[in-house]
Amino acid sequence: MTRRPEALFPLFADLTALEGVGPKSARTFARLDIARPIDLLLTLPTGVVDRRLRASIRDLILPDVATVEVEVGLHVSPAVKGRPYRIHVRDARTEFLLVFFRARPDWLRAQLPAGARRIVSGRVELFDGVAQMPHPDHILRPGGEEALPEFEPVYPLTQGLTQRMISRAVTEALARVPPLPEWIDPAVKAARGWPDWDRALRAAHAPASLADLEPSAPARERLAYDELFAHQLTLALARARMKRPKGFETCGDGALRGRVLATLPFAPTGAQTRATAEITADMARPTRMNRLLQGDVGSGKTLVALLAMLAAVEAGGQAALMAPTEILARQHHASLAPLAAAAGVTLDLLTGRDKGAERAAKLAGLAYGATAIVIGTHSLFQKDVTFCDLRLAVVDEQHRFGVRQRMDLGAKGRAPDILVMTATPIPRSLALAHYGDMDLSVLDEKPPGRGPVRTALVASGRLDEVIDHLRRALAEGRQAYWVCPLVEESETPGAMGEMTAAEERARSLRVALGDARVGLVHGQLPNARKDAAMADFAAGVTSLLIATTVIEVGVNVPNASIMVIEGAQAFGLAQLHQLRGRVGRGASASTCLLVYDPPLGETARARLTVLRETEDGFRIAEEDLKLRGAGDLLGVQQSGLPRFRVADLETQADLMLAAQDDARLLLARDPDLAGPRGAAIRTLLHLLERDKAIRLLAVG
Ligand code: ADP
Ligand code: MG
Repeated sequence: MTRRPEALFPLFADLTALEGVGPKSARTFARLDIARPIDLLLTLPTGVVDRRLRASIRDLILPDVATVEVEVGLHVSPAVKGRPYRIHVRDARTEFLLVFFRARPDWLRAQLPAGARRIVSGRVELFDGVAQMPHPDHILRPGGEEALPEFEPVYPLTQGLTQRMISRAVTEALARVPPLPEWIDPAVKAARGWPDWDRALRAAHAPASLADLEPSAPARERLAYDELFAHQLTLALARARMKRPKGFETCGDGALRGRVLATLPFAPTGAQTRATAEITADMARPTRMNRLLQGDVGSGKTLVALLAMLAAVEAGGQAALMAPTEILARQHHASLAPLAAAAGVTLDLLTGRDKGAERAAKLAGLAYGATAIVIGTHSLFQKDVTFCDLRLAVVDEQHRFGVRQRMDLGAKGRAPDILVMTATPIPRSLALAHYGDMDLSVLDEKPPGRGPVRTALVASGRLDEVIDHLRRALAEGRQAYWVCPLVEESETPGAMGEMTAAEERARSLRVALGDARVGLVHGQLPNARKDAAMADFAAGVTSLLIATTVIEVGVNVPNASIMVIEGAQAFGLAQLHQLRGRVGRGASASTCLLVYDPPLGETARARLTVLRETEDGFRIAEEDLKLRGAGDLLGVQQSGLPRFRVADLETQADLMLAAQDDARLLLARDPDLAGPRGAAIRTLLHLLERDKAIRLLAVG
């Protein structure tokens, strides 16, 4: 079934099909992204007005909306034109004013005759210390309040739409809601106390208290779960389909891994051992591996990757490790080459710089299987790169690559296992939303002996002090990075580019520090000079490295113990965390100076403060998420996250987890959604327009 079920047709009709919605108001609704009844139904109230009758306005904290019975008193016409018409009224305990601008006195005298009793409902505010209700929303005779709903939902508005118009359209749309078969697992639903879908919709549009607006209110929670569940089903379907092509059973004997572990000067951490075991067990399965290895900066992902690659080689196959930049590819090659040599494994490096005969020889080594492990950049994707028997593709620092490229590499060889490594600590809720189609291994433990990095905020006006501090530290033989400010690409032409900023800074620091021991690296440098700058810094020939964010990921120079970041307020928290992760890798105490341009806004200060207080990448990511919101953190566009209308990733991570469990369990039992619950789930996927899932089901 790939077509929309007929029962849903009324919800996907044009909005004008609703009684009272004409073409003009339909255009206004469109500004709120509401084009069909279903859009309206999933636009939930953001507030609620309590219209219940109370005795007096006296105990209210003003301004607030109140409904009270009053005795009408004196009418006062404005003495000056432009002033309001005022009517004195008295409720059970106090007096206040009804206020009307541009009033029609005849009409008011008829509606509110002096001496009569009336129910008035509206917003009461203080003006010059006097309580007044300007233009009551309702004026009724006593007893007439029966017709007033006790609570009124408040919807997001746009110019040209009133609450009344939206409420009316919602009522019309609710009348078209069909009863649908239940798609949520009955046990989950019962345990959470969730209502049926149609009742949840009705309840969500009829809040009776502020508590009903909370994400945890059963009706809202259920609707949020529907969204998360539909999303996780989509991911789980993609994952199931991806796994279906049979993979290799890559099962090594451990001999090569044993030799490497024996040459290491340290023992792997518990987390490294655990992750390696998960990965190699997955590789040994007949299905294809699609796994994410997540570990904070410095948690030792490279070793885990090497051990996994060695397992592929032990089984007679090849492995590839792809890095996002040339610098990183070279660094991986330099650190892994001795270990590979110790194990007697051939390891090669392939980058865009390899040309001519040299490149041809490298390609031949891969094609005929003489090279067991290759490290490279995106050059590994190129068409002329073929493998004899690629079993495992490792992709380092996923965020620099798109999902598309991940797939491209996966298409090399028959169906290599895929391991994606990321240092970007993604909060669990987002990891599930973003990588729900992958299995997850986490390095949640750092190698021992790493000291904390002292982090300080410094206003840019105090740059001189920073330079003095550097001068002393460099004299003691320490090494430092200096990261130059980000420059927006969109900035006016002629503005200083990142490269120019870095070159300027290098010049001024060479003057200030009176020393040629200052290196410079940025993206626009010719490759050979980039390598030379990195190599000089790693070897201690230079002691200060001025850089743009090219050093953000992966660079490893343990003797460097000072990180200065200029224009820190403009960087993302995750990025600052990555940059800071370049220090604190060696024996000496490390410092990170976040230099900001004042004045700092409240959020900017809060963000930098988080960084000062913790080095836990996951906590930083969680805080960043709170401060900025999910869309911002990954960039909604590139994150591939659907827009959730009800669900809130920031507060409902547990629901996402439950939805993932439920989706995976269900598909394990009924992969084609052929059973009775499957039919209900197809309805859900249509309802929430998860087209990708529907297509996946269609191809089977
Ligand atoms: P990341 O996870 O950031 O990629 P790396 O793999 O670059 O981290 O490792 C960072 C540093 O820690 C490297 O110098 C590496 O040799 C070292 N290292 C890795 N595992 C351990 C361990 N178990 N004990 C001590 N040092 C380790
Ligand atoms: Mg790394």
